[in-house]
Amino acid sequence: TPPERIRNFCIIAHIDHGKSTLADRMLQYTGVVADREMRAQYLDRMDIERERGITVKSQAVRIPWELNGDTFALNMIDTPGHVDFSYEVSRSLAACEGAVLLVDAAQGIEAQTLANLYLALENDLTIIPVLNKIDLPAADPERFAKELADLIGGSPDDVLRVSGKTGAGVEDLLDRIVSDIPAPVGDPDAPARAMIFDSVYDAYRGVVTYVRMIDGSLAPRQRVQMMSTRAQHELLEIGVSSPEPHPSNGLGVGEVGYLITGVKDVRQSKVGDTVTDHRKPAETALTGYVEPKPMVYSGLYPIDASDYTSLREALDKLKLSDAALVYEPETSVALGFGFRCGFLGLLHLEIITERLSREFDLDLITTAPSVVYTVRSENGEEIVVTNPSEYPEGKIEQVTEPIVKASVLLPKDYVGTVMELCQSRRGSLLGMDYLSENRVELKYTMPLGEIVFDFFDQLKSRTQGYASFDYEPAGSEAADLVKVDILLQGDRVDAFSAIVHRDNAYAYGTTMTERLRKLIPRQQFEVPIQAAIGARIIARENIRAIRKDVLAKCYGGDISRKRKLLEKQKEGKKRMKMVGRVEVPQNAFIAALSGD
Ligand code: GDP
Ligand code: MG
Repeated sequence: TPPERIRNFCIIAHIDHGKSTLADRMLQYTGVVADREMRAQYLDRMDIERERGITVKSQAVRIPWELNGDTFALNMIDTPGHVDFSYEVSRSLAACEGAVLLVDAAQGIEAQTLANLYLALENDLTIIPVLNKIDLPAADPERFAKELADLIGGSPDDVLRVSGKTGAGVEDLLDRIVSDIPAPVGDPDAPARAMIFDSVYDAYRGVVTYVRMIDGSLAPRQRVQMMSTRAQHELLEIGVSSPEPHPSNGLGVGEVGYLITGVKDVRQSKVGDTVTDHRKPAETALTGYVEPKPMVYSGLYPIDASDYTSLREALDKLKLSDAALVYEPETSVALGFGFRCGFLGLLHLEIITERLSREFDLDLITTAPSVVYTVRSENGEEIVVTNPSEYPEGKIEQVTEPIVKASVLLPKDYVGTVMELCQSRRGSLLGMDYLSENRVELKYTMPLGEIVFDFFDQLKSRTQGYASFDYEPAGSEAADLVKVDILLQGDRVDAFSAIVHRDNAYAYGTTMTERLRKLIPRQQFEVPIQAAIGARIIARENIRAIRKDVLAKCYGGDISRKRKLLEKQKEGKKRMKMVGRVEVPQNAFIAALSGD
């Protein structure tokens, strides 16, 4: 297809504003998917996506559309909507010339609407503003058309109104995509440059890499080179998805499609990298490739120790399709053998743990998420700490923690309670904007460490779910942080160590010691539970000793009852962990860590 007949676009929206549903309607109206094959959220292939209604991995679909007698090839590039994947979002946006900015006509602009819009504007995309769900009785298109027009400029009359559910307005939208979004430009004679915007692992085909051709062209059997690693591969197959794969005899300027080289691991074909011709390589890569950087770390431990090998195998397998997942073996006194895993954010963590349990049938304990700290000792030595138990002993000169710029959108009635929450999380207010009479955007800088600790849940409950939230990394800052340890009979329980602000250390210590007192059963001897900063004890609880053997009351009694009791004790023992001399039931660890 010549570039003049190509339009590359994406749909950007806050979660639940109807992106997947609208994409479904587009596939249907352009005849790409037959009506009888249509099923909801056609493109969201991963089970977890469909169930939770979130888009994790992006994908590209080519759809034909006719306007004034000419047929155009529209490439719809689906972007992940969540902040954890913002690098992937920005790469898929870079593959487009335009974006459909989709906003729920009953909700208005939300945090991810803004975050994605800013990314789209940074990539110089033409924006088509669209209100969705106009079929809803609660829809208020007049009001939100104005809100959108105020945000991006232009008149409220330019805001399209559609319903992904009924299909109303979808054909007009396809026309607008053709007429408003510019055709791609590139040099057909230059050395090939294709940008990788997605890379997915397929059990049958190996890694399928989605690319946007910028310059030149690529053809099957050609040898290609990845510009970040210089690795070479042969193109076994190249083609377009519609949405099923259609192999072709090549991709030219402006085209969007997939390639298969037989590699088995997405790290060999990384999002953001540039593919070029091995024999006639381009001089410069497209944009600086960025290595995905884990922001949040957590320990994953099998509840049943014999699942350790299965856990390793499962992580190895997930890694094939997820270049951002990192892990290494770790041991914990309390939890045994497991893995320290790094994630892009909390949603990423949740997706991985859910996949481990669902696809690999593993029961796991997940330790409290921790961010990445840099700790400088008095002797000037600096270490990077992703696990509180690695925190250096002795005098610390400085600790720095990652900071984010957060944006919260909310109805104005909740401003007070949300400000209070952000303040209590060490946020500092950057600004407050009224998006409309009733909707406010609050901007804060905040330590990421305060967000990974149930900030979302707090925000939701304080605003009855009416607030939305997004953030981007904003460097790191020194802070007065300390490590709090929890000791059982003088032995440190590594899984419960936490790095917290000095002002919150006491609260953390008392909460954990109280929780553990309730969760750990009485033993033959008294067990002190303490919280400590270094050698200084800041909180203490006691578990009193049991006076007599439980079997004593069975003497002379019914023998079968005695056997049952013994068996029950043996059964219970299996699920006990020894911390020093103290027996702790495994679910006490789980409960204490999850905070129930
Ligand atoms: P996404 O998270 O942006 O991909 O949103 P989905 O397409 O998954 O839609 C979220 C929810 O809104 C689903 O329950 C859809 O059925 C519903 N929905 C999407 N579009 C419309 C629409 O035009 N009208 C109505 N009434 N509901 C819609
Ligand atoms: Mg979706």
